[in-house]
Amino acid sequence: MLKQDQEPRTASVEKTTELWAFFRGEFVPLRDANINVMTHGFNYGTAVFEGIRAYWNADEEQLFALELLPHFERIRASARLLMMEIRQSPEELAEIACELLRRDGLREDVYLRPIIYKSSETIGVRLHNLDADVTIFGVPFGQYIDTEGGIRAQVSTWRRTDDNAIPARGKITGAYVNGALAKSEAQLNGFDEAIVLTADGHVSEGSAENLFIVKGGVLVTPPVTDNILEGITRRRLMEIAREELGVEVVERSIDRTELYGADEVFLCGTGAQMSPVIEIDRRSIGGGRPGPVTKALSRIYFDAVRGRLPAYRSWLTPVY
Ligand code: PMP
Repeated sequence: MLKQDQEPRTASVEKTTELWAFFRGEFVPLRDANINVMTHGFNYGTAVFEGIRAYWNADEEQLFALELLPHFERIRASARLLMMEIRQSPEELAEIACELLRRDGLREDVYLRPIIYKSSETIGVRLHNLDADVTIFGVPFGQYIDTEGGIRAQVSTWRRTDDNAIPARGKITGAYVNGALAKSEAQLNGFDEAIVLTADGHVSEGSAENLFIVKGGVLVTPPVTDNILEGITRRRLMEIAREELGVEVVERSIDRTELYGADEVFLCGTGAQMSPVIEIDRRSIGGGRPGPVTKALSRIYFDAVRGRLPAYRSWLTPVY
């Protein structure tokens, strides 16, 4: 378990002096990739983003970028929600991301952050008649939350933003205030992570992760209509469960108290990876240890993302 005062390992600004960014159509040192304070996206949260991992495989001396195209297709869909079009296609953005990673030359796990944002420097709440631009940078990145021993979660008092308020299906920067409220509440209350309910009281997801429960051998996860981000990891884990483990997967709404009675619960996402939940609202889940389905999925997932399983190599783009 990550301790409360132990922040996940993320890059600080001092460590970024050798890193690059794709900014205003060219590669520049990350320290020079700065926007003006009047930028619309900064003032109003009118930006969309992605979190992409690249895994270092020391045996092959190779960096594997995970799911580049699905992430760049999703950011384009998020951008369209906010009436933004950029000239680069998802394929071109994937190529730019690889070039950026090659310039950074890191031999460790990396987190890539593409952002498409309203770049006009102007005051006024709206989406139309504004310019948009894209930027991408990467930082060395380790664990975001614990992935082995299991985490302790709290059902948040904050509710998930509704599709008709700020759509969760778009990865919209301003919407992450919702996750931040929930995450800080949980951590300051002594938990590791928050589980957020929809306005009508069904389980939606974690602060930045999708959620699964296992009950009676069946894997259950909230449907995309319960205000979740349509996670790429979620989709992959459903495929592995069905096709490799022969586990039945059901997408349906989940009640809060089903969490307490679940045999297993886990969170998943690009940043979070696979994180077993062993306690919710001070009730032990599955005897306080990660369960068999969680462990089996986790084993396959971590091998797949590092390029150790030929069957899942199609998820990966070798960078070097
Ligand atoms: N839900 C939210 C709110 C997230 O921020 C993320 C992380 N992108 C996820 C779910 C997981 O999505 P993915 O597996 O595509 O990273």
